[in-house]
Amino acid sequence: MGAKLMAEDFKSAKNWRPATRLVRGGTKRSDYGETSEALYMTSGYVYDSAESAEARFSGDEDGHVYSRYGNPTVDMFEERLALLEGAEACYGTASGMAAVWGALSSILKAGDHIVASKALFGSCYQIVTSILPRFGVDFTLVEGPDLSAWKAAVRDNTKCFFLETPANPVLEVIDIAGVARIARETGAMLVVDNVFATPVLQSPMQLGADIVVYSGTKHIDGQGRVMGGAILSSQQFKDEQLKPMLRHTGPTLAPFNAWVLLKGLETLKLRVEAQTASALKIARALEDNSAIERVLYPWLDTHPQYEICKKQMRGGSTMVAFEVAGGKDQAFDLLSRLQIIDISNNLGDAKSLITHPASTTHRNIGEQARAAMGISDNMLRLSVGLEDCDDLIEDLAAATGG
Ligand SMILES: *Cc1c(COP(=O)(O)O)cnc(C)c1O
Repeated sequence: MGAKLMAEDFKSAKNWRPATRLVRGGTKRSDYGETSEALYMTSGYVYDSAESAEARFSGDEDGHVYSRYGNPTVDMFEERLALLEGAEACYGTASGMAAVWGALSSILKAGDHIVASKALFGSCYQIVTSILPRFGVDFTLVEGPDLSAWKAAVRDNTKCFFLETPANPVLEVIDIAGVARIARETGAMLVVDNVFATPVLQSPMQLGADIVVYSGTKHIDGQGRVMGGAILSSQQFKDEQLKPMLRHTGPTLAPFNAWVLLKGLETLKLRVEAQTASALKIARALEDNSAIERVLYPWLDTHPQYEICKKQMRGGSTMVAFEVAGGKDQAFDLLSRLQIIDISNNLGDAKSLITHPASTTHRNIGEQARAAMGISDNMLRLSVGLEDCDDLIEDLAAATGG
C-alpha cells in the first residue's frame, strides 16, 4: 500500500510530545500523498499469487488477510493511541464494553478469581458479578480506595484486579500505584478502565497497570458519532492472549469508526483540557449554590481522595457529580429546567450532557448496589462540553432558581 512512514519512523515518534503524537502518530501515507489519513473501507484483501496468500497466512509475509484480523485504518488508530499511552501495543474494539470483556476474558478462565472495585460503570458491574460467574470465575468486590481491602480479598486463584478511576458516576478515585503493588505481589494482572480520566489526564501504565481499556465512544470520538474501544497492553499480551481470543470471537473495530476515532485523537488533548478547565469552574460554582448539597469533583479539596487525585492525575476530569438539595423530584426538576445542557447518558461529548444515574445508567444494578456505590436519588452526573463555560454556569444557576 506504499506506506511511507515505516517501523523505523515510529521510534522517532516515541520522542514526540503528546500533542505531536496525537496529530501525527501512526500515520501511514499511501502513494496518493493524502494529508488526512485514508479510510480503507474493505473487509478483504487480494494477493498477487497463491504463494503470496499462503505466505500471508503462515506469517512469513507481512500484510492483511481479513479485516476481522486487521485493517490499515484500524492499525493507524491503534498505533496513535499506543503512542499516546506509552504502551507497547493497542487492540481496537467495537465498543468500550468489547474492550473490557476482551481484556478480562483473555486473562481469566474457569476456576480463577477476580477482585474489582465496587464503584463500576453499570455494564462493567454486570460483567464482573453476573457474566464472568457463568463461566466459572469467582469475584470479590472491594471498596476501591481502601488498599487493605484489595490485599484481604486475594486468594490463591486470584488472576486479575479490575478498577475504574475516577469511577462512574461518583468520581471515587483509587490509588493506582498502590493497587498495582498488591497486584504484582499477588501475580494478578491489573486492568484499569481509564475512560473518565482519558489518556490526557492519567497514565495508568506509568503507575504500574498492566492493561488499560478505553471506550472510544466517549472522549476519543468526543462528538457523539461512533462506538469504539481499545485495549492497551504489552506486545506479548496482545500477541499471546488478545489476538487468539479477539480474532476468533470478532469484536472488531470497523474501519469507518476507527477513522473517526483516529481523527478524534488529533483534537483530544485540546478538547479534554478545555472541558476540564470548564468542569473545575462549574464545580466551584455549584459549591457556592445553596440548592446543591454536595459536589464531587477530583480537583476540589473537599473530594475524599483529593491527595491521590493530585498525585496521579493531571486534571480533575471533564465530569462533575453533584447532589441536589431534596430528592429525586428536585433532581428531575433541575433537569427539566435546563435550556442548554442536554439530558443524555452519553459523556465526553463536545455538547454538555447530564444524567440521573439512579434511574438510567445505574438502574439495573438495584438499590442495594447503588447505595454501596454512593449513588443517591438526588445525584446528577454532568459531562462538561465545549460550550462557553459561563453559559453553562448560567444554565445551571437558572435551573436551580439561583
Ligand atoms: C461508557 C463506558 C464504558 C463502555 O463503553 P461503550 O463504548 O459504551 O461500550 C466503559 N467504562 C466506562 C467508565 C464508561 O463510561
